[in-house]
Amino acid sequence: MILTVTMNPSIDMAYTLDTLAIDTVNRTADVRKTAGGKGLNVSRVLHLMKHDLTATGVLGGYFGQYIEAQLDRDGIGHSFTHIDQESRNSIAILHDGGDQTEILEAGPTLSEADADAFMAHFDDLLDQTTLVTISGSLPGGLASDFYAKMVAHAKAKHVDVLLDSSGASLKAGLDAPDKPLLIKPNEDELGALLNTTVDKHDLTALRQHLSDAVFDGVAWIVVSLGAAGAFVKHLDRFYQVTIPKINVVNPVGSGDSTLAGLALALDNHASDDVVMKTAMTTGMLNTMEAETGFVNPALFDTYFNQVTVKEV
Ligand code: ATP
Repeated sequence: MILTVTMNPSIDMAYTLDTLAIDTVNRTADVRKTAGGKGLNVSRVLHLMKHDLTATGVLGGYFGQYIEAQLDRDGIGHSFTHIDQESRNSIAILHDGGDQTEILEAGPTLSEADADAFMAHFDDLLDQTTLVTISGSLPGGLASDFYAKMVAHAKAKHVDVLLDSSGASLKAGLDAPDKPLLIKPNEDELGALLNTTVDKHDLTALRQHLSDAVFDGVAWIVVSLGAAGAFVKHLDRFYQVTIPKINVVNPVGSGDSTLAGLALALDNHASDDVVMKTAMTTGMLNTMEAETGFVNPALFDTYFNQVTVKEV
């Protein structure tokens, strides 16, 4: 079973408007509310791909109950710890023919007791877990090495972790002695980590970036490059992964869907080639759907067969 971690889940509310008018009332009947947060997108894609998973993290209040009810409705197994604060809402306003304006709540601030209760629960869940995915930002109150500590707890039980984070929590995860099995920075996240500008077409520079000592001990580095596919390092091998041109409906959540593909293929002990092709396919399938973190598995084989992996 894959354990997906979402420490700061939200109810994602999407409002569609013809035009967004500022400093006045906007009305709409086009509202969508989904259980959100990057790890829950990973969970949904794993579930749609018929892979066994449990979603965990921290939830609270009526909004937390709503998120659990949505997961129940979708048949997604979950086991969260609960806090006495409300989980957050994230608002996306889709307007003016393609613009997206977002209002993102910071969410609850966790106490030390909340953090300890979650870590104890995580330890219990690890006993039934073959692979962990950790996605997204940390809620307030948790130190930036909280994910690094989770990786150490998982490693102590011989469970590998795929870490999809950014900024200080990714850096702490790379600096710690127990490394994640895989990280999945996009172009911007890689640039921020190395304090440089990344040119996705410069394969020599990409090789150099991924050879930086900051990544020592991390077996898989998957740099997702949107429509340009991915550049990947696995142990001492480098791969350029290219994908077909497709009709994109909504690219939001593609990184999460890519992580789901990586997790399911690695959990199946697939070959390097299949790991990368699966990840690109779930990423692409997500872009072809209006809903975030959603894939149509019936299209999987068609697109999987159009991904090419070249060792460089
Ligand atoms: P997000 O933050 O939106 O979840 P990300 O920046 O982490 O995404 P991307 O590199 O944009 O991740 O996308 C992940 C994968 O999804 C890509 O490697 C590719 O397989 C697929 N993908 C994303 N955008 C496109 C696109 N425009 N055309 C084709 N495939 C895409």
